[in-house]
Amino acid sequence: MMPTENDAGAPEQSGKGIAPSLYDHDRFALGELLEGQPAYRIDQLWQGLYSDLASPADITTLPAPLRGELSEHLPAALSEDRRSVSDDGQTIKWLWRLADGSLIETVLMHYEDRSTVCVSSQAGCAMACGFCATGQMGFDRHLSTGEMVEQVIRAQREAGSRRVSNVVFMGMGEPLANYDRTWSAIERIHGALGLSARHLTISTVGLVPGIRRLADEALPVNLAVSLHAANNRLRDELVPVNRRWPLEILAEACGHHAETTGRRLSFEWALMHDVNDTLRDAAELADYAGPLAAHVNLIPLNPTPGWPTRGSSPLRVREFAEELGNRGINATIRRTRGVDIDAACGQLRASRTPVELGQTRPESAASLPD
Ligand code: SAH
Repeated sequence: MMPTENDAGAPEQSGKGIAPSLYDHDRFALGELLEGQPAYRIDQLWQGLYSDLASPADITTLPAPLRGELSEHLPAALSEDRRSVSDDGQTIKWLWRLADGSLIETVLMHYEDRSTVCVSSQAGCAMACGFCATGQMGFDRHLSTGEMVEQVIRAQREAGSRRVSNVVFMGMGEPLANYDRTWSAIERIHGALGLSARHLTISTVGLVPGIRRLADEALPVNLAVSLHAANNRLRDELVPVNRRWPLEILAEACGHHAETTGRRLSFEWALMHDVNDTLRDAAELADYAGPLAAHVNLIPLNPTPGWPTRGSSPLRVREFAEELGNRGINATIRRTRGVDIDAACGQLRASRTPVELGQTRPESAASLPD
């Protein structure tokens, strides 16, 4: 089947042949599986899956034969291929193998006041940002809603008594190029897992139609835009989608989102030595972010073999942040979490040899969001 284009300009996939995750079933679909059972079974099943985070086989409120039957119909999609732990156990990164062999990553980060899961929305990515490990891999396929929800559930199981409070769609892939499935995942994470909308963040390269849709959703989630450059010449190069939706149009959409949702906008800025880390770049960024009242997250670029630029020095990072501050922009310097375990976007998968992966594309590192 030929891939078709969705409104965000990314190739769509039918998803045929991909075994669904048990979390792809909404209440209605689960209800159909329970045909002939008393009506209260759906509540028991739903609670077992989303409050107790149990597998169908372990939902002991259900009779054993039913559990067996449900387990057969409701398989998990993620199997652990590799797990790495760093920051004294505060950062855990998984490489999951999906039913079709695709590999994706999820990261769980514990902080003093919260625990954040960074979720992948696609296997690979079609946005082709040259500095990004996932961008260098190319696009494999969209993830299903269940495959996204399952990442959060697996992370919460691991977190135990520490409640996963925040979910950021900043793992592999472009969430707004997989809009419908991503939005269903957001609704499930909000509705069934009980995370508040203000603790959910979608990060995008800047797909303007997607940002506009997001602004009009009933649930106001946070928007992060991977800006990296505040002039079109440089951004065209760093984030190729800018050629389709340049900065002026992106600003309009961001402003619309901030206005309709009341959420603070944030810009991600990977600081690259001598590319976008001069005081002039800071001034440009301040001019762009100021009218939008955007918060800026700064992170030194994680170098990747496919992109011969290094991250800015700590001094440059500090000076850049100071310049933004002097110009009235709120900026936070992010620490790269888990560099020692390849815990940056696309990097764990990239550390597999091409033979293991069955491919030969160049791959490497990216940064971790907060
Ligand atoms: N496609 C979405 C979400 C995934 S990328 C987006 O672009 O926002 C998550 C963040 O990591 C983005 O801000 C991205 O620009 C950043 N990133 C990617 N590669 C990086 C690298 N090598 N160093 C630092 N940040 C990187």
